[in-house]
Amino acid sequence: MRAIQFEQTGGPEVLQLVEVETPKPGPGQVLIRNQAIGVNFIETYQRGGLYPVKLPSGLGGEGAGVVEAVGDGVTRFKVGDLGAYAGGVMGSYAEYVVVAADRVVKPPPGIDARVAAAALLKGLTVEAFIRRLYPVKAGETVLVHAAAGGVGQIMVQWLKAIGAEVIATVGSEEKAELVRGLGADHVILYRDQDVAAEVKRITGGKGVPVAYDSVGKDTFEGTLGSLARRGWFVSFGNASGPVPPVDPLRLMRGGSLVFTRPTLFDYASTTEELDASAAALFEMIASGKVKIEIGQTFRLAEARKAHEALESRATVGASLLIP
Ligand code: NDP
Repeated sequence: MRAIQFEQTGGPEVLQLVEVETPKPGPGQVLIRNQAIGVNFIETYQRGGLYPVKLPSGLGGEGAGVVEAVGDGVTRFKVGDLGAYAGGVMGSYAEYVVVAADRVVKPPPGIDARVAAAALLKGLTVEAFIRRLYPVKAGETVLVHAAAGGVGQIMVQWLKAIGAEVIATVGSEEKAELVRGLGADHVILYRDQDVAAEVKRITGGKGVPVAYDSVGKDTFEGTLGSLARRGWFVSFGNASGPVPPVDPLRLMRGGSLVFTRPTLFDYASTTEELDASAAALFEMIASGKVKIEIGQTFRLAEARKAHEALESRATVGASLLIP
């Protein structure tokens, strides 16, 4: 089968298309023929060396497709089912992938492989962070950075469905237009405007009770300055680089703030958590409250181009690789 691998860390050019043996499912595993592969920002951190991986390595943790074979003891899936997975794999940028059956979910009728691969990892992240990490309540004002991105678009729509007021940040006027269309109440162009000053103006000086920051280094100060007393700083990504060390005394001076650095995998660590989270996500999609934008598709062989687009902020919504 064809797969993407890298032998050394570096820029998008280290991603190589190679021929490797198609894997076989062991006990408890399923073999999935990927119909769509989700591209996630984490893969740029792994490729670039920010998150070390053992080399040479495959890349990618998300995808959806047809179950082609099942290993001993698998009852959750049968051959021919549609399966989608987000995590538990290092190497979904490939025609086939082997995944533990209890890490795979079955999208309901009406959700095809492309939508599932575009939605699952990003949507589970949103579900976990806005419903369980910090349960957002109707009427609360929430700051969402990089709101036109894959995670961002789902977060804005889901927060609006809860009844929250959303302050969205984006990098361009086109992206601002897009997130207004998704229901964002206020939009800040964070490359030009002072985020904390704008948030304080919008909230009448109070600040927000929770801010979701996946941009990292460049937005750290602005996010810290945007929080209300006892506000939550949810730092969940490093698109612009890792955040600097956090001084606890700054959290005290900011008003007894909470700083957390969550990862999806700790919120979907059991099959029960995974299934419940996926069910909530699929329900949001089926109801039409959350629309999944597949902003870009690339052929598997074009993984390099997909990374170039993601890292140059040229994408909106989710990006897919199609084998
Ligand atoms: P996005 O589609 O959101 O792409 C990243 C966006 O970040 C860009 O489009 C850009 O939007 C913005 N950005 C700001 N500064 C930069 C920069 N210097 N370089 C590149 N982009 C920048 O990606 P994803 O939806 O895949 O992921 C969003 C974030 O969420 C990532 O940081 C990812 O690591 C994180 N994440 C974390 C998870 C967790 O478990 N903790 C799980 C899933 C995702 P703009 O042009 O508007 O500035």
